[in-house]
Amino acid sequence: MERLIYLNGELVERKQAKISVFDHGLLYGDGVFEGIRAYSGNLFKLKEHLDRLYNSAAAIEMEIPMTKEEMTRAVVDTVNANKLRDAYIRLVVTRGVGDLGINPVKCFEPAVFIIADKVTLYPEEYYKNGLNIITASTRRNIPEALSPRIKSLNYLNNIMAKIEANRMKVPEAIMLNREGYVAECTGDNIFLVNTRGEVLTPPLYTGALNGITRTVIIDIIKDMGLKIIEAPFTLFEVYSSAECFLTGTAAEIIPVVDVDGRKIADGRPGELTIKLKEKFRKITKKDGVKL
Ligand code: PMP
Repeated sequence: MERLIYLNGELVERKQAKISVFDHGLLYGDGVFEGIRAYSGNLFKLKEHLDRLYNSAAAIEMEIPMTKEEMTRAVVDTVNANKLRDAYIRLVVTRGVGDLGINPVKCFEPAVFIIADKVTLYPEEYYKNGLNIITASTRRNIPEALSPRIKSLNYLNNIMAKIEANRMKVPEAIMLNREGYVAECTGDNIFLVNTRGEVLTPPLYTGALNGITRTVIIDIIKDMGLKIIEAPFTLFEVYSSAECFLTGTAAEIIPVVDVDGRKIADGRPGELTIKLKEKFRKITKKDGVKL
């Protein structure tokens, strides 16, 4: 079936879903986006995704020309029009058409588009055997220049780190902040379990995106009565951890077994990581907006 794309208030066929070459989303990466999933007809944590989208837009002083209620409806309609129950949804708001200068004042109407497609799952062996990852030499953007909390269309910082991962033939890379503390990965947040059984994740101010999956996992950990510590840590804590895992909308929870060629613990996915994944999967069908 030909996919229907939501574009500025209309559902159009893929071939008709076109954006101007003068759109500042394309010319300058001026815009914001979200990656959302539907599980068995449930738009998981849609409200949280929309809150983050509108906060990202506010941070770049861009007004989204729709209310959150209208945006919710647009997402629901797009997924339904494509007859999907399990889906990956890409929601993008660009600054819109302007002239060739960077000045957003000349962009009069943001463009909104929503793509709903089948989910491309990561290979099963990633979950079963865990990932080998590296630390990129590319540092995370400094918040004083461009806050990593903005999910903007300007992903070059992460792309440069991803290219380093490609070069080393691994699927992800840790990004440190300017001070050398672990911030996150190129498209996922990072967690550790230390040898005392405490769970650690970098605080957002170290330069991490406020991941929706990150928050869900923190809540699950708290519900389990375990200690979650949001405090800066270095590669020392990563290399000496008992477990390491990544979280993200596409990845869900994925174990890490090797960082920079060093094995994490016995080199197998950790027990808590596996347990968290099971608990996470159970709530994905419940918490959200129904199609
Ligand atoms: N960090 C970055 C840089 C990301 O792009 C993403 C989303 N792919 C994440 C973390 C994970 O966030 P979420 O759980 O909201 O998908």
